[in-house]
Amino acid sequence: MHHFQYQNDQMYCENVPIRRIAKAVGTPFYLYSHATLKRHFKAFDSAFAGVSRLVCYSAKANTNLAILNLFAKLGGGLDIVSAGELYRGLQAGFEPNKIVYSGVGKRVDEIDYALKNGILMFNIESLEELEVINQRAANFNTIAPVAIRVNPDVDPKTHPYISTGLKKNKFGIDIVSALQGYKAAQKLDHIEIKGIDCHIGSQITDVQPFKDTLSSLNTLINELRKIGIYIRYLDMGGGLGITYSDETPPAPDEYAQAIIKSLKDSSFKLILEPGRVIVGNAGILVAKVLYTKRGETKNFVITDTGMNDLMRPALYDAFHAIKPVSKTRDATIVADIVGPICETSDFLARDREIDNVHRGDLLAVMSAGAYSFAMSSNYCSRPRCAEVMVKDNRIHVIRNRQTVEDLCAGESVPDFLDEH
Ligand SMILES: *Cc1c(COP(=O)(O)O)cnc(C)c1O
Repeated sequence: MHHFQYQNDQMYCENVPIRRIAKAVGTPFYLYSHATLKRHFKAFDSAFAGVSRLVCYSAKANTNLAILNLFAKLGGGLDIVSAGELYRGLQAGFEPNKIVYSGVGKRVDEIDYALKNGILMFNIESLEELEVINQRAANFNTIAPVAIRVNPDVDPKTHPYISTGLKKNKFGIDIVSALQGYKAAQKLDHIEIKGIDCHIGSQITDVQPFKDTLSSLNTLINELRKIGIYIRYLDMGGGLGITYSDETPPAPDEYAQAIIKSLKDSSFKLILEPGRVIVGNAGILVAKVLYTKRGETKNFVITDTGMNDLMRPALYDAFHAIKPVSKTRDATIVADIVGPICETSDFLARDREIDNVHRGDLLAVMSAGAYSFAMSSNYCSRPRCAEVMVKDNRIHVIRNRQTVEDLCAGESVPDFLDEH
């Protein structure tokens, strides 16, 4: 359940008619429901009640400062994958000792920034990275807290582009090398082994891959114990899926129970890195119909938003439900709902049955809270759109729409162009 519902054929976000927001801020814009964000975070966190845990929201799903701020206020931690995300997290008020840092390509300056700020731990993704972090920590005469991200070779049965825990994926360290990694880490003076980490993919709709992963981790943890390495933090990563159309992912309670039962040892502090499951269905993208066009074989609904604002359909052939903001009650049509970008992959939906909409009508692209604005671009010199948060009957623009001046910011023309 989320808070984008119809009242008398008008879609509302909580207690505000979406039509009214469109009038105030223009289109397109992302719209987030505060009540939904909060409920999702709390439902996820309380699913693990009774277990020592830290829910580190995965920043990359949606990095807006207002959203990060909300989760910081709810007591959450943060999972970051860049120095930029660390900067945002600190700005939003996360305590550094609740921040975990993942990612296969951490630069030296990013490592330094994280070391200086005293994050909870680095999730190490290669043995070389371990060496570099040790050197950097030595340089600052400090100790770097680490976990090794284990690639358990488990098939999460999701889209190949968002599966991350298979041997052929670039992420983490295979289980055999991970043992070597821990042994190496044990000998390094500026490394403190804190935990073990994994993240097997995203939009996972079954608990089995998580259970299989934990059983691999348990085996490794036992091996480590034999050589005197004791894990304090067990980071399960993120990946729990949501309903975009007819998927039936496990509810947070079911997911939590599956993990807690497979834990065996309750002395660990559990870290969870949910992204999509928290924000995915707490946001929508609102766009306007610019034109409709009847081709010989297809109908097209052309909107003022496209792959520059929402890349998921182009990137993963992802499904997003599309609903009229004002129901027309006309007969429906089947159409491709497309954007203004000069690419054939610029579609929001293909062969989709929707209300017979007309020029000027508003459309709501549902389930657009995760990996949506975060992946937006300025392609075709389209300014990034606005983001709005609603709480009950209040509206706040949490990101201004970019202007055309913003588009050229930072660009400059060299004098030598005058030399001919
Ligand atoms: C992206 C990512 C997550 C979040 O994944 P979701 O599927 O959005 O829950 C968690 N951990 C890591 C390391 C990630 O890269």
